[in-house]
Amino acid sequence: MQVIETFSPEDTFRLGVSLGERAKPGEVYTLDGDLGAGKTALTQGIAEGLRVEGPVCSPTFTIVQEYGEGRMPLYHFDVYRIGDAEEMEEVGYEDYFYGQGLTVIEWADKIAAILPKRRVAIRIEKDLEQGFDYRRITISEVPE
Ligand code: ADP
Ligand code: MG
Repeated sequence: MQVIETFSPEDTFRLGVSLGERAKPGEVYTLDGDLGAGKTALTQGIAEGLRVEGPVCSPTFTIVQEYGEGRMPLYHFDVYRIGDAEEMEEVGYEDYFYGQGLTVIEWADKIAAILPKRRVAIRIEKDLEQGFDYRRITISEVPE
């Protein structure tokens, strides 16, 4: 387990860049943390680290947004508004989770039951005592 503290959105973005640079095809990164924690900011860094061109925003109305131009495909899920597991079936989530790209899932706790056993779990927490822009980011490899 790795704990990283960031003190600005740019710090979090840079952490994402290094994660994106080191990512391997088929990996799944789950992102959890409150609204405004920095899940999308981290994902934008990951996209940069994968050399994805163009803007990456939260795919709130589509569940998944696919970016094909980088070092490997990026499958960016935001399951905040997911109603039930059937919606995940409809988007064909298994093709993404077990495919050859990097899957990043915002609000992954909401679909805990269908997450791959092997994944990289990333949790972002605020701590207002440490300042408004402080984030504690915990990265743990979940083994099979
Ligand atoms: P989420 O996707 O988790 O809802 P966003 O990435 O969309 O969150 O937004 C995070 C917000 O918090 C942005 O407005 C960003 O500027 C702000 N912020 C402040 N400090 C940080 C930090 N250390 N890391 C990431 N975002 C931060
Ligand atoms: Mg978001």
